[in-house]
This record gives sequence, structure tokens and C-alpha cells, in this order.
Amino acid sequence: NLAQLLSQTATQYADKTAIAFEGQIWTYRDFDRQVRIYAAILQHLDIHRGDRVAVLMPKSVEFLCMHFAILAIGAIALPLNPDYRAAEIVYFLTDSSSALLITTSDRFSQLQDIPIALKVLLHDTHKLVNVGLGEPANIQDSIIDLATLFTNFKQNLPDGFELDYATGDDDIAMICYTSGTTGQPKGAMLSHRNLIANTQALYKAWQWSDRDRLLHVLPLFHVHGLNVAALGSLYAGATMIMVEKFQPQQTWQMLESEQCTLFMAVPTIYQLLINGANRETKPNLDKMRIFISGSAPLSDRQFHDFAEITGFPILERYGMTETGMNASNPIMPELRIPKSVGFPLDGVEIRIANQDADHHSSGDSQIGEVLIRGENIFRGYWQRPAQTAEAFTDDWFHTGDLGYLDNGRLYLVGRAKELIITCGFNVYPKEIENVIDRHELVKESAVFGLPHANFGEKVVAAIALRDDSIAIEQSEITKIIIKHCKQELASYKCPKQIFVVSALPRNAMGKLQKHILKASILMKPD
Ligand code: ATP
Ligand code: MG
Repeated sequence: NLAQLLSQTATQYADKTAIAFEGQIWTYRDFDRQVRIYAAILQHLDIHRGDRVAVLMPKSVEFLCMHFAILAIGAIALPLNPDYRAAEIVYFLTDSSSALLITTSDRFSQLQDIPIALKVLLHDTHKLVNVGLGEPANIQDSIIDLATLFTNFKQNLPDGFELDYATGDDDIAMICYTSGTTGQPKGAMLSHRNLIANTQALYKAWQWSDRDRLLHVLPLFHVHGLNVAALGSLYAGATMIMVEKFQPQQTWQMLESEQCTLFMAVPTIYQLLINGANRETKPNLDKMRIFISGSAPLSDRQFHDFAEITGFPILERYGMTETGMNASNPIMPELRIPKSVGFPLDGVEIRIANQDADHHSSGDSQIGEVLIRGENIFRGYWQRPAQTAEAFTDDWFHTGDLGYLDNGRLYLVGRAKELIITCGFNVYPKEIENVIDRHELVKESAVFGLPHANFGEKVVAAIALRDDSIAIEQSEITKIIIKHCKQELASYKCPKQIFVVSALPRNAMGKLQKHILKASILMKPD
């Protein structure tokens, strides 16, 4: 299983720095030991193979140790986004019927009316709270102090303690909730085999080695920061320089001073780096191998601006919670193409389905839903058999993303749910957004459909301006943008209305939340 693999790497690289985090240095030995201490504590708390353990902790090395300790005892880890509100957390705990929640005292104090019985480990104070059904009458009575246990286990692991290597590769390792970009987040069950397949495919594709130094600026609760970045580094025996929160200036400095070889981020982060770059002096990145982007589309402009500043063409890849990584641009910089997410990774098969119901394969360059097959594909949505069945045709997973293949390279054109059908024509928002974004006044844009009596849907665009202090009437901007679109696009594709907004709504991973935008525009009086 995955925990075993990591433990082997830890033995091989025992004295090497596994993680440097905000002034702390953790060798592989320290890391492995902390995983074992937590594993012993989890066992002491009566957590068993298959139990769900939710983790709501700030970004830290302890978060990672706890995560892998859960996997090491064969339990199922549920990393939760610290940005979730109390009601959302209660939903995830209930949906997964978690046996244990690991969090901090202040986060726990915000949670009320948890409708299931569960244990809560307050990681900062080493206390255990037993939550009964509903609020306990006197919460003090149900608090157990584990401080002595933590200290004892730190000195000596209990007699007979062993990691549970009975856990097989087909056991579920994690339930990862999707980002909720197109609806309610769904719990994707990922097995040890899924995680191993994905990690090994990326190890090969990106030529990871123990000489790598990864600058880690992403959150840990999401597949990108956890299963791609952190796991990749720990599997490779590399060194990870982890910071709690991304800051552009600090990132530019650390890429140089820490002699980093790898960097992974989402397009929003690349944009902030571009904005904060010193254009006069080129950064000294002579150890750097690859800048990697994913989780949301990287624009042509971002690709070129970043290349101009650093000399590095960003390597874009495509993945999702349910599948891990599916496709990646090549390791050879000159073979990378902006707007393509690259070739299928080793062990991953990609085909394009026709949009009609019988899902015949279509030829190259035809747009359709992207279907994926491989050992990386998840084991279904947690307790949602109907949604799981709907997501598969035989063993092909329906990604919900639209795209096409051209000479083996995959291009994404948007999400199936965001396709606009106007007067019977398909309009792919991304094509229009690319045109609008090329206008000098525009910083970014989002194109979507609004219901229309005659057209079915009408194409509209929301735009954020490069310079929002600019004094032009909304009606004037509308005219300019529509005229610009008409020069490059058939008229059915052109937006019929333009809304100027101060910024487009994005979530923690920089994903554009079109449903929020759409709702806010529908609420506005016309
Ligand atoms: P939900 O499934 O709950 O609606 P989500 O799909 O945003 O949310 P994730 O699993 O975090 O949740 O994101 C996966 C999606 O992110 C992919 O299906 C794809 O739409 C998008 N994505 C990932 N990488 C890229 C990329 N390089 N270019 C364009 N889109 C990408
Ligand atoms: Mg999704």
C-alpha cells in the first residue's frame, strides 16, 4: 500500500530533509517517526481500517503526518478545506459518517449541532472530545486530556505497535470532495492503487528525482497540493520547501534562494507572480526544471507573459479529484503548446465521446466529452451509487469536460455543463473568452448563457477591466467589446450583452465560479 511505499523511501533517505516549513526542518526519519506516533495514537483512539477520519487542520507538517498516519492504519482520510463554514463541515462529517475529526480548538468551538456521534481530537491542545448525539449537556465532562499519551508515544511507541500492512491496494485511502464548481461537492473515493498509479505516472512524466527541490505554496486539502505536489516529493525522496500561504514576492525570492527545481501552482498564482515580477532583472533560476500549472485553464497570455519573464514555458497538465492527473505537456520545453493540456500520462487512456447518447468514439479534432480509463480512476462517489453509475460507461469515466484530441494532444474547451446552446448552435465559452481577453481593456472574462425566449439561451459575457478606474460608460464598453468580437467570431457566438464586474468570483483553487456569477447577474435589474 501507499504508506508502505512512503515508509521505504523514508528509510532510504532517513537523514535527508524531507520538508522545510516556516523555519522547521523535518528529515525523512523525523517525518516517518511522526507518522508512526500519530498512527499509534489513532489506534489508541480505536480507529480501525475503513473508518473515516476528517482532517481540518491548518497547513503544516503535522497535517501531512496525520494524513499519512490515517492511511498507514488502513483508515480513510478526508481532508477538509479550512475555508468551509461550520454548516459545510457538519455536512461532510455527516455525509461520510466520520469516526473522528482532527482539528484545532478554535475551529471546533465554531461547530455546533453535529448530528452524529464522533470523536474530536483537538490537535493543538492534545485533548479528545466525545461528541454524543446533539450537543453534550456538559462538554467539559466529555473532554479527555491526551497530553501524557502524546508525550509517552513520542518517547516510546507502545509495545507491539505495527503499521497495518494488511491494507491492500484496493482499500480506500481517501475520500476527497470535489471543488463544487458545478454543484454540490461529491466525495470521490480514491484507493491506494489510484494514488500509487498517479504518483508513479507523474514521477516518470516529470522525471522526479531525489535531487528535486519543490517549492510548495498550495493548500494541502486539495488533490493538487496533497496528491500531486506533497506526495510526489515524498515518494521521490526529494525536498519540499513548504510555505503556509502563497505570497508573490516571497515566492520569487525563495525560487532563487532555495535553489528550487520544481514549482506547482494554479493560473491565479501565476498571474499574481506575473503582476509582481521585476521586469528589469531576470530572476536567477538556474536550478529550475519545471513550472507546472493545473486545476484551471492557463491562458495564452499567462503562458507567454511568464515565459517572457523567466524564460520558462509553463508545463500545463490536466487532472481532477476523481482521476488524479490524466494528461500532461511534455517534459521537453520546446514541445509544450499553450492551450493544450498535453498527452495522456502513462497508464491513462483518453477518448472523446460524441455528444449523442450512444457514446460512439469520434475521430480526431471533433469536440466531445472527455472520457478516461486507467488505474488512476476513482472507485466511485461515496454513498452515491446512482451518481457513480451515471459517471461511467463500462469502465470509461465521464469527466464532464469537453475537449478534442489533435495528434494525440488533448485540448479542453470547457465544461459540458457550461456549454451554451443558442438557436440550436453550440457555443463553447472558452473560444469567446479567448477573443475577449485579447482586447487591451480586458483583464479577464467569463462567457455564459442566460435563458432567452427565442434563442433558448443567449450568449453574454462578464468582464473585469485591466484598469478599473477607467472612465467609460458601461454602454460604451459593451459596444467596443461586441464590435471586437464580431471581427473574429460568427455573430451567433458573439455576446449580446456585456456586464462589467470588479472581479470574477473564484474559489481557493482559482477556479472560476460561473454559477455564482450567473446568479448575481440574474439578480441584477436589467
Ligand atoms: P465539481 O466536480 O464539484 O463541480 P471541480 O470539477 O472544479 O468541481 P476538481 O476535481 O477540483 O473539482 O477540478 C477538476 C476540474 O478542473 C476538471 O474537470 C477541469 O474542468 C478543471 N481543470 C483541471 N485542470 C485543468 C486545466 N489544465 N485546464 C482546464 N481545466 C482544468
Ligand atoms: Mg468535477
